[in-house]
Amino acid sequence: MEITFLGTGVAIPQKGRVQSGILVRLEEKPLLIDCGSGVLNKFPETDISHTEVDTVLLSHLHLDHVADLLPLLKANWLCGKTNMRIYGPEGTEEWLSKVLGAYEYIMEEVDVDVIEIFPGKDFTPEGFDCEIRCTAAIHSVPTLAYRVTAEDGEFVYSGDTEPSRDIMDLAAEADLLIHECSFPPGTNVTNHTTPTTLADMLEEYNKEIGSICLTHFYPDMRGHEREAVYRLKGYFEGEVILAEDLMKLEL
Ligand SMILES: [Zn+2]
Ligand SMILES: [Zn+2]
Repeated sequence: MEITFLGTGVAIPQKGRVQSGILVRLEEKPLLIDCGSGVLNKFPETDISHTEVDTVLLSHLHLDHVADLLPLLKANWLCGKTNMRIYGPEGTEEWLSKVLGAYEYIMEEVDVDVIEIFPGKDFTPEGFDCEIRCTAAIHSVPTLAYRVTAEDGEFVYSGDTEPSRDIMDLAAEADLLIHECSFPPGTNVTNHTTPTTLADMLEEYNKEIGSICLTHFYPDMRGHEREAVYRLKGYFEGEVILAEDLMKLEL
C-alpha cells in the first residue's frame, strides 16, 4: 500500500503544510483519512483523482480534520461522482446533516452514507479488502485512532491525542505508527502530543513497531523537528520520520 500525506498541519495556517489528510492507496481504491482545509486542492498534485475517493474515515470532527469534506462532496458531484461513504466517531451523522443541511442543492444531489463507529469496533469498508480496527484517542472530543491492515502491511493513525496505552496496544507489531506531534519538546499541553510525552510513553510501553511517522505539527514545532527525532530515538529503535505534505510512504 502507498500512503500519501496530503496535509500535515493544523488549524493555524503555516507555510508548506495544509490541515490534516492522509490518502491511502490500497489495491482496490483509495481510502482518505481525514479531510482538513487544503486537502482537496492537493489532489491535482497526486496521481489519484478526488473522484476516485468514495470512502472517508474521520478521526474526529474538529475543523482541521473535516473542513474540506463538503468541498470534496461538491467537487465530486460537479464531476459526476455522487456516492460517498463516511466512517466516523459518534456525532458524525448529526454533524454532517447540519452542515450539509445548509446546502440543500448539494444534499439533493449526493448520496452519502454515514457509519458511526465506536472504540473496539472491527470493520471492513465496503469494496475494500482490508481490516480496520479502532480505539479511543485521548482528545477534547470523541476521537478514534485507526489500525488499517491489508495484505501488504499495516499501519496505525493516532488522530489527535495525548500518548495513549490503547493506541500503543493498537500499534503493536504494526509496520508504521503515524502519530500526531503537535508541539515541541517540553510544551505543557493536554489533548495533544509532544516528543517528550511520546518518548515517555515509548519508554514505559515499548511495543514492536516498525517505524514512527510524526505529523500534525503546530507552527511552534518549526525548528524543533530534529530535536523531536532525537528525543524519540532514545526510546525507539526503528526509523522516526517527519511527515511533509505530499510525502509518500510505501508499506
Ligand atoms: Zn482535534
Ligand atoms: Zn487536529
